[in-house]
Amino acid sequence: MDLKYTPAELSFQEEVRKFLAENLPERLSKKVAAGSHLSKEEHEEWHAIVNRKGWLATHWPVEYGGTGWSAIQRFIFEHECALANAPRIIPFGLSMLAPVIIKYGTEAQKKHWLPRLLEGKDWWSQGYSEPNSGSDLASVRTTAIRDGDDYIVNGQKTWTTQGHFSNMMFCLVRTDPDAKKQKGISFLLIDLTSPGVEMRPIITLDGEHEVNEVFFTDVRVPRSNLVGEEDKGWDCAKYLLTYERTGVAGVGHACALLERVKRAAGERFQAGVRLIESPSFAMRLAKVEIELEAMKTTNLRVIAAVSGGGVPGAESSMLKVKGTEIRQELTALLRAIQGPYARVIPDANADLSAPMYPGGPRNVRAGALNYLNQRKLSIYGGSNEIQRNIIAKATLGL
Ligand SMILES: Cc1cc2nc3c(=O)[nH]c(=O)nc-3n(C[C@H](O)[C@H](O)[C@H](O)COP(=O)(O)OP(=O)(O)OC[C@H]3O[C@@H](n4cnc5c(N)ncnc54)[C@H](O)[C@@H]3O)c2cc1C
Repeated sequence: MDLKYTPAELSFQEEVRKFLAENLPERLSKKVAAGSHLSKEEHEEWHAIVNRKGWLATHWPVEYGGTGWSAIQRFIFEHECALANAPRIIPFGLSMLAPVIIKYGTEAQKKHWLPRLLEGKDWWSQGYSEPNSGSDLASVRTTAIRDGDDYIVNGQKTWTTQGHFSNMMFCLVRTDPDAKKQKGISFLLIDLTSPGVEMRPIITLDGEHEVNEVFFTDVRVPRSNLVGEEDKGWDCAKYLLTYERTGVAGVGHACALLERVKRAAGERFQAGVRLIESPSFAMRLAKVEIELEAMKTTNLRVIAAVSGGGVPGAESSMLKVKGTEIRQELTALLRAIQGPYARVIPDANADLSAPMYPGGPRNVRAGALNYLNQRKLSIYGGSNEIQRNIIAKATLGL
């Protein structure tokens, strides 16, 4: 196994860097670097820029308008985007739903939904979790009962990320209420502008509106919005989750964050000593940097295995656990650097790019908010405890 880039991969890396240097608006990268949330319009602006280059659908085959990239090309692209503080490509429609439509959808569904995804006509959210159905996803209780050419949907979804931006949701619903667990679940596309849909915000620790709860009361959904076979939606759900965990290690984001921590710690003095030279801080920083180096290698090993036709198993769970722990530790270090200035800013209009303390570095004032926000990393996409269970079963046979 060769963990070095080939000359072709190195030249692709250069092409990505050039594209970012020429096309990424500084206004957006500054916001990303400051850890601020982007508006829907800002996300759409970046999606449109990437789409013009033909690089928006990195997971799709060329015949559907995708890049047809290899796993290593996708890694290079995501890595370089993160290092450049580019907004992330919102995954729900493009890299979670689309692969399911490509594998399980009808020709009519592919023709209808895929071009709309590229053009940004729909904003998708993921309707998997429900109150009491998170880790135990197969216990979903939202029902979809046939009525002529429609389903009538009743129930509740929760933690719906960017649901308030969305007009569409891909949903796991129970089409056979008598069937147990994984059986009797279907994969349904729901128009969130339909009568009977109600969305309520959930405000997270950092005071942001990022997630929602969504209620369905007698919502009519055409049967043509069913993807795959009725009662066989669990296959789609599992297939989609493998895409959700792809790239979850967030190596590029961690590298960008590490640089920010080092820069800030180099500028911050504590008792007359640069924080980066204080033994206790330096030890924490060195530990997380070593872990990041190890994770980079593991990540490349997994990518090399996938490129050779292998399927990542417990490795993607390992990357999820390590990757999220590293990013959480880095945001904790960033908050530690702020010292007494690490307070949550109560004013929603506060300038988050202002210095975090007099004379201090810019763009890190949002550190405390970012720290709070990033607690989610070890919960979503399958909690880290659940990932540990998967690792224990797969590698230790427990
Ligand atoms: C910010 C955020 C955004 C999210 N976005 C979305 C979204 O867009 N769409 C969506 O569908 N969902 C979303 N989720 C939901 C997320 O997938 C669930 O929160 C997650 O799967 C955990 O489920 P739960 O919250 O019901 O916790 P529970 O499953 O109730 O778990 C509670 C605790 O018990 C632990 N636990 C549970 N079972 C076991 C076990 N068998 N062994 C060991 N420990 C266990 C868990 O690790 C956790 O610590 C989001 C969550 C967050 C926090």
